Amino acid sequence: MKILLNNNDLNKALIRVHNLGFVPTMGSLHKGHISLIKKSKINCNKTLVSIFVNPSQFNNKLDFKKYPRNKKKDLKILKELKVDFVFTPKTSQIYNFKRKIKIKIREKDKVLCAKFRKGHFEGVIDVMDRLTKLIKPNKIFMGEKDYQQIYLIKKYIDKKYRNKIINCKTIRDKNQLALSSRNKLLKKKDLLRASKIIKNLKILKKKIKNKTNIVKIMNNEIKILEKTYQTKVEYLEMRTKKNLKKTKKINNSKIFIAFYINGIRLIDNI
Ligand code: AMP
Repeated sequence: MKILLNNNDLNKALIRVHNLGFVPTMGSLHKGHISLIKKSKINCNKTLVSIFVNPSQFNNKLDFKKYPRNKKKDLKILKELKVDFVFTPKTSQIYNFKRKIKIKIREKDKVLCAKFRKGHFEGVIDVMDRLTKLIKPNKIFMGEKDYQQIYLIKKYIDKKYRNKIINCKTIRDKNQLALSSRNKLLKKKDLLRASKIIKNLKILKKKIKNKTNIVKIMNNEIKILEKTYQTKVEYLEMRTKKNLKKTKKINNSKIFIAFYINGIRLIDNI
């Protein structure tokens, strides 16, 4: 496994590499990341994993500071997985040029997390654009846990490059909670509380099959969840998988949620 610390290392290492799979991460690796890496290893000749906690996608400085980091453990996991390359650049390597045209999300895309985390996806698109330009992968593996992220990356940067973005399914713990680096900031009892919210949503999704008053049902569910699980629900909405438009039809759609447990913001889609 080659550890690449800067853009020079990267350029040298990738010179003769064909069919490269790229798994972008912010580290603090878990089984969700590992599933992406395994998929890349099956589908590509070589696999590169990046570990970069991107400051520009945090709309809150404290959140950036608190974000769990564990490079030593991450490198051990990646070595055991026999990953070919790990790219762990400093911020100055990635942000080594100023953009002429600012990245802007269209008004109609400012829904779900784009509505509540101002500047977040602009930061995600910016870093993915920079990383893709540097790495020039053939395939990029991304998790459906961050469904809106994949949707926007496909929409805003996919056309610019010749790579393919591969959707990977969400990996959950034994209680149905989606794995997330942020889960490491929560105690066992908080994680259990979060998992109960997800279980409730799975039941709700089955129940609303032939119902039409979806907004009312969702608003009512928010009240129930907040009362029962001492949570604050930021949004709970049903939207289509294709273009994230609000819908009343359960077919080809997902329920999206963002909620706070003990001050930690979690997202999921079911
Ligand atoms: P992150 O390190 O949180 O920025 O995530 C890096 C990549 O891993 C993103 O494409 C995420 O969508 C994906 N990912 C995170 N959690 C999971 C999960 N539980 N299952 C599948 N993919 C995930």
